[in-house]
Amino acid sequence: LIKIKNLYKNFGKNEVLKGLDIEVKKGEVLVMIGPSGSGKSTFLRTMNLLETPTSGEVYFEGQELSEKSTDVFKHRERMGMVFQQFNLFPNMTVLDNLTLAPIKTGRLKGDEARARAEQLLARVGLEDKANAYPQSLSGGQQQRVAIARALTMNPDVMLFDEPTSALDPEMVGEVLAVMQELAEEGMTMVVVTHEMGFAKNVADRVIFMADGKIVEEGSPEQIFDRPREERTREFLSRVL
Ligand code: ATP
Ligand code: MG
Repeated sequence: LIKIKNLYKNFGKNEVLKGLDIEVKKGEVLVMIGPSGSGKSTFLRTMNLLETPTSGEVYFEGQELSEKSTDVFKHRERMGMVFQQFNLFPNMTVLDNLTLAPIKTGRLKGDEARARAEQLLARVGLEDKANAYPQSLSGGQQQRVAIARALTMNPDVMLFDEPTSALDPEMVGEVLAVMQELAEEGMTMVVVTHEMGFAKNVADRVIFMADGKIVEEGSPEQIFDRPREERTREFLSRVL
């Protein structure tokens, strides 16, 4: 579904991504771990065309994204993105947060968008919050709304950038549970997280990244129980 070849990204003199080769298959859950500043967010943003590669190629269903024929907005519609900070529109109700994109892009009519929004809210356990405003919700509830909102456009892939890092500990579980359900339903997901339990239980594959390079990748069992690289062992000993 996604293929990344020899991806480099510099910000001025700062080389952030240094030759990444990554493939994501349909239905796969890829978890990326690594120290702060290793380029994980930059990598996710590159897939979403929020950053343009300095060099290298990103293919989505065989289409190279830097080609002129690529419609950036159409491409982004196919990728749902969930951030650490929930980024909901504060002056809109939950329902309006969820119906905005489908209506604005002409995908769904008002009543269809509403029905779809209600269905998604039920899926994340918040059917009773449609008319609430974001600031009246807990962090965990807001993040579940953000996930539902990302799903309104029926994306092919969901990208998560540390979706639970800003949450109080007691709310982490409810968000991870929604993500796990999505994974079980077959959603293709790329997840940057420090939740090693989630990585162990849900990931099909784990990539450990440091200094803009892939240090090691493998099954969760291999990465967590039998890491090959010293750098991986050292990282895991600090976070586990
Ligand atoms: P964290 O775990 O802290 O979120 P990360 O692995 O996501 O870290 P990135 O956010 O991708 O790391 O940042 C990698 C490097 O790129 C950092 O040195 C950062 O300062 C730099 N960087 C990221 N975005 C920009 C930008 N828009 N302009 C300039 N430098 C940037
Ligand atoms: Mg980051």
